[in-house]
Amino acid sequence: MTEVSQVRLFIEPEVARLAALNFNATHLKRLDEAEANEHVAFKSAPDQIARLTNVHKVLAHICGNLFFEAIVRSMLKITAEIVMTVVPDLDILHGPGEHHAVIEAVKSGDASRAATEMALHLKTFSIEIVELEKVYRRHMMQAG
Ligand SMILES: [Zn+2]
Repeated sequence: MTEVSQVRLFIEPEVARLAALNFNATHLKRLDEAEANEHVAFKSAPDQIARLTNVHKVLAHICGNLFFEAIVRSMLKITAEIVMTVVPDLDILHGPGEHHAVIEAVKSGDASRAATEMALHLKTFSIEIVELEKVYRRHMMQAG
């Protein structure tokens, strides 16, 4: 996970920065819908992951660089695979509404704040996943 986190932490604050610079009224509906959908009851773990990662995908789209978008999508795919394998409780990892500060910064066109908020979000997320993985491994050791 540390390698994926490292790449995400390098790429996604820049993606958020570009999204803030590129943001216009045509993006508003899609971004608001992605945020609202985080608060709808999840049907399954894959559904939960899809809803909670959608803001990252929408921002990658808004940033306007197809290569950044492709990188973000592939990083999210790998993250989802790891999360499905090692994280027993998705609710602890990433709750609804955690993208609010990033979204507000993007909407207001504040590029440097968007980058800072995204970095903060990813750091919190990666610390949690590293800790959860340790807990999970201890459980596995005890079970075996
Ligand atoms: Zn997130």
